Amino acid sequence: MMRNWVVFCDFDGTITERDMIITIMEKFGRPGWERWKEEILAGRIPVQEGVGRMFAEIPSAEKQEIVDYALQVAKIRPGFREFLQYCRENEIRFFVTSGGIDFFVKPILSDSVEEGKIFCNGSDFSGETIRILWPHACDEHCDGGCGLCKPSILRRYGAPGTDRIVIGDSITDWKAAQMADHVFARSLLLEKCLASGIPHTPFTTFFDVIETFQRWHEASKEGTR
Ligand SMILES: [Mg+2]
Ligand SMILES: [Zn+2]
Repeated sequence: MMRNWVVFCDFDGTITERDMIITIMEKFGRPGWERWKEEILAGRIPVQEGVGRMFAEIPSAEKQEIVDYALQVAKIRPGFREFLQYCRENEIRFFVTSGGIDFFVKPILSDSVEEGKIFCNGSDFSGETIRILWPHACDEHCDGGCGLCKPSILRRYGAPGTDRIVIGDSITDWKAAQMADHVFARSLLLEKCLASGIPHTPFTTFFDVIETFQRWHEASKEGTR
Protein backbone atom coordinates (compact mmCIF):
# COMPACT_ATOMS: atom_id res chain seq x y z
CA MET A 1 0.00 0.00 0.00
CA MET A 2 1.09 3.56 -0.68
CA ARG A 3 2.33 5.34 2.37
CA ASN A 4 0.37 8.34 3.58
CA TRP A 5 2.94 11.10 3.28
CA VAL A 6 2.39 14.69 4.36
CA VAL A 7 5.09 17.20 3.47
CA PHE A 8 5.72 20.35 5.47
CA CYS A 9 8.07 22.57 3.50
CA ASP A 10 9.80 25.66 4.81
CA PHE A 11 9.88 28.75 2.57
CA ASP A 12 12.81 31.06 3.40
CA GLY A 13 16.13 29.50 2.43
CA THR A 14 14.34 26.28 1.42
CA ILE A 15 11.90 27.06 -1.41
CA THR A 16 13.78 30.32 -1.95
CA GLU A 17 17.54 30.26 -2.24
CA ARG A 18 17.91 33.07 0.30
CA ASP A 19 15.98 34.07 3.40
CA MET A 20 13.49 36.67 2.17
CA ILE A 21 13.02 38.42 5.52
CA ILE A 22 16.76 39.11 5.63
CA THR A 23 16.78 40.09 1.94
CA ILE A 24 13.90 42.53 2.53
CA MET A 25 15.43 43.95 5.70
CA GLU A 26 18.76 44.59 3.97
CA LYS A 27 16.90 46.94 1.66
CA PHE A 28 13.97 48.27 3.72
CA GLY A 29 15.00 47.67 7.35
CA ARG A 30 15.57 50.73 9.49
CA PRO A 31 19.14 51.37 10.74
CA GLY A 32 19.98 48.89 13.46
CA TRP A 33 17.49 46.21 12.33
CA GLU A 34 20.32 43.67 12.55
CA ARG A 35 20.19 43.82 16.31
CA TRP A 36 16.84 42.00 16.22
CA LYS A 37 18.27 39.33 13.97
CA GLU A 38 21.18 38.85 16.35
CA GLU A 39 18.92 38.73 19.40
CA ILE A 40 16.81 36.03 17.70
CA LEU A 41 19.81 33.96 16.57
CA ALA A 42 21.34 34.16 20.05
CA GLY A 43 18.04 32.94 21.50
CA ARG A 44 17.66 36.05 23.64
CA ILE A 45 14.24 36.96 22.24
CA PRO A 46 11.58 34.77 20.58
CA VAL A 47 11.32 34.81 16.78
CA GLN A 48 7.82 36.28 17.08
CA GLU A 49 9.04 39.30 19.00
CA GLY A 50 12.12 39.94 16.85
CA VAL A 51 10.30 39.69 13.52
CA GLY A 52 7.44 41.81 14.82
CA ARG A 53 9.83 44.55 15.92
CA MET A 54 11.81 44.61 12.66
CA PHE A 55 8.66 45.17 10.60
CA ALA A 56 7.15 47.59 13.12
CA GLU A 57 9.92 50.04 12.17
CA ILE A 58 8.88 50.11 8.49
CA PRO A 59 6.11 52.47 7.26
CA SER A 60 2.98 50.70 5.94
CA ALA A 61 3.21 52.93 2.86
CA GLU A 62 6.23 50.92 1.67
CA LYS A 63 4.18 47.75 1.24
CA GLN A 64 3.94 47.71 -2.56
CA GLU A 65 7.59 48.59 -2.99
CA ILE A 66 8.54 45.66 -0.74
CA VAL A 67 6.28 43.24 -2.63
CA ASP A 68 7.69 44.36 -5.99
CA TYR A 69 11.24 44.02 -4.72
CA ALA A 70 10.57 40.57 -3.22
CA LEU A 71 9.07 39.34 -6.51
CA GLN A 72 11.99 40.74 -8.42
CA VAL A 73 14.79 39.21 -6.34
CA ALA A 74 13.32 35.93 -5.05
CA LYS A 75 15.08 32.91 -6.54
CA ILE A 76 13.21 29.63 -6.35
CA ARG A 77 15.36 26.58 -5.65
CA PRO A 78 15.68 24.29 -8.67
CA GLY A 79 13.26 21.37 -8.85
CA PHE A 80 10.55 23.01 -6.73
CA ARG A 81 7.93 22.99 -9.48
CA GLU A 82 8.85 19.45 -10.44
CA PHE A 83 8.50 18.38 -6.81
CA LEU A 84 5.03 19.96 -6.59
CA GLN A 85 4.09 18.08 -9.75
CA TYR A 86 5.46 14.85 -8.26
CA CYS A 87 3.37 15.38 -5.11
CA ARG A 88 0.22 15.96 -7.19
CA GLU A 89 0.78 12.87 -9.31
CA ASN A 90 1.44 10.68 -6.29
CA GLU A 91 -1.22 12.09 -3.98
CA ILE A 92 1.31 13.33 -1.48
CA ARG A 93 -0.15 16.12 0.63
CA PHE A 94 2.03 19.23 0.47
CA PHE A 95 2.00 22.27 2.74
CA VAL A 96 4.22 25.31 2.98
CA THR A 97 5.02 26.14 6.62
CA SER A 98 6.68 29.52 6.57
CA GLY A 99 7.76 31.96 9.22
CA GLY A 100 7.59 34.55 6.43
CA ILE A 101 4.80 37.06 6.00
CA ASP A 102 1.76 36.60 3.73
CA PHE A 103 2.25 39.84 1.77
CA PHE A 104 5.46 38.59 0.15
CA VAL A 105 5.23 34.78 0.58
CA LYS A 106 1.89 34.44 -1.25
CA PRO A 107 2.82 36.61 -4.27
CA ILE A 108 6.09 34.69 -4.71
CA LEU A 109 4.20 31.37 -4.66
CA SER A 110 1.09 32.62 -6.50
CA ASP A 111 1.78 30.66 -9.66
CA SER A 112 2.77 27.42 -7.95
CA VAL A 113 1.04 26.77 -4.59
CA GLU A 114 -2.67 27.24 -3.73
CA GLU A 115 -3.17 29.76 -0.92
CA GLY A 116 -4.99 27.17 1.19
CA LYS A 117 -1.80 25.12 1.37
CA ILE A 118 0.33 27.94 2.74
CA PHE A 119 0.71 28.42 6.48
CA CYS A 120 2.45 31.72 7.17
CA ASN A 121 2.19 34.87 9.27
CA GLY A 122 -0.21 37.71 8.45
CA SER A 123 0.12 41.47 8.18
CA ASP A 124 -1.83 44.65 8.83
CA PHE A 125 -1.06 47.87 6.96
CA SER A 126 -3.83 50.00 8.46
CA GLY A 127 -1.48 51.71 10.91
CA GLU A 128 1.50 54.01 10.43
CA THR A 129 3.93 51.07 10.38
CA ILE A 130 3.66 47.39 9.49
CA ARG A 131 2.05 45.17 12.08
CA ILE A 132 2.65 41.42 11.83
CA LEU A 133 -0.25 39.10 12.72
CA TRP A 134 0.18 35.58 14.06
CA PRO A 135 -2.69 33.32 12.98
CA HIS A 136 -0.61 30.16 13.60
CA ALA A 137 1.08 30.95 16.91
CA CYS A 138 2.18 28.28 19.42
CA ASP A 139 -0.47 25.93 20.84
CA GLU A 140 -0.58 24.94 24.53
CA HIS A 141 2.24 22.39 23.99
CA CYS A 142 4.81 24.93 22.77
CA ASP A 143 6.25 27.89 24.61
CA GLY A 144 8.78 28.82 21.93
CA GLY A 145 7.25 32.13 20.85
CA CYS A 146 7.69 30.77 17.33
CA GLY A 147 5.39 33.28 15.63
CA LEU A 148 4.39 30.66 13.10
CA CYS A 149 4.63 27.47 15.14
CA LYS A 150 5.64 24.51 13.00
CA PRO A 151 5.31 21.91 15.80
CA SER A 152 1.73 23.10 16.44
CA ILE A 153 0.88 22.59 12.75
CA LEU A 154 2.49 19.13 12.64
CA ARG A 155 0.45 18.07 15.66
CA ARG A 156 -2.73 18.53 13.61
CA TYR A 157 -1.56 15.98 11.05
CA GLY A 158 -0.49 13.18 13.37
CA ALA A 159 -3.13 10.56 12.45
CA PRO A 160 -1.83 6.97 12.73
CA GLY A 161 -0.29 5.75 9.49
CA THR A 162 0.79 9.23 8.46
CA ASP A 163 4.45 9.89 7.71
CA ARG A 164 5.25 13.51 8.39
CA ILE A 165 8.11 14.84 6.26
CA VAL A 166 9.82 18.13 7.13
CA ILE A 167 11.91 20.03 4.56
CA GLY A 168 13.95 22.91 5.90
CA ASP A 169 17.20 24.76 6.34
CA SER A 170 17.39 26.39 9.71
CA ILE A 171 16.94 26.53 13.43
CA THR A 172 13.26 27.49 13.00
CA ASP A 173 12.67 24.01 11.53
CA TRP A 174 14.39 22.15 14.33
CA LYS A 175 11.46 21.50 16.66
CA ALA A 176 9.27 20.25 13.81
CA ALA A 177 12.19 18.17 12.50
CA GLN A 178 12.39 16.32 15.81
CA MET A 179 8.70 15.35 15.48
CA ALA A 180 9.00 14.28 11.85
CA ASP A 181 9.27 10.76 10.46
CA HIS A 182 11.92 12.00 8.07
CA VAL A 183 13.72 15.30 7.44
CA PHE A 184 15.21 16.78 4.28
CA ALA A 185 17.82 19.21 5.53
CA ARG A 186 20.36 21.71 4.34
CA SER A 187 22.55 24.32 6.02
CA LEU A 188 22.08 24.76 9.79
CA LEU A 189 19.26 22.23 9.98
CA LEU A 190 21.53 19.64 8.37
CA GLU A 191 24.18 20.28 11.03
CA LYS A 192 21.57 19.82 13.78
CA CYS A 193 20.29 16.60 12.21
CA LEU A 194 23.81 15.21 11.83
CA ALA A 195 24.70 16.07 15.41
CA SER A 196 21.56 14.48 16.85
CA GLY A 197 21.29 11.48 14.56
CA ILE A 198 17.62 11.90 13.62
CA PRO A 199 16.57 10.32 10.29
CA HIS A 200 17.36 12.77 7.53
CA THR A 201 18.52 13.22 3.95
CA PRO A 202 20.68 16.17 2.89
CA PHE A 203 19.41 18.08 -0.11
CA THR A 204 20.60 20.86 -2.38
CA THR A 205 17.77 20.99 -4.91
CA PHE A 206 14.23 19.60 -4.90
CA PHE A 207 15.37 17.06 -7.51
CA ASP A 208 17.25 15.39 -4.63
CA VAL A 209 13.99 15.25 -2.68
CA ILE A 210 12.10 13.74 -5.63
CA GLU A 211 14.79 11.07 -6.01
CA THR A 212 14.39 9.96 -2.41
CA PHE A 213 10.60 9.85 -2.68
CA GLN A 214 10.93 7.73 -5.83
CA ARG A 215 13.12 5.27 -3.94
CA TRP A 216 10.61 5.09 -1.07
CA HIS A 217 7.81 4.67 -3.55
CA GLU A 218 9.55 1.73 -5.22
CA ALA A 219 10.35 0.17 -1.86
CA SER A 220 6.74 0.45 -0.67
CA LYS A 221 5.51 -1.19 -3.89
CA GLU A 222 7.93 -4.07 -3.40
CA GLY A 223 6.71 -4.44 0.15
CA THR A 224 3.26 -5.36 -1.13
CA ARG A 225 4.38 -8.16 -3.44
MG1 LIG B 1 14.17 28.71 6.41
ZN1 LIG C 1 5.88 27.17 18.95
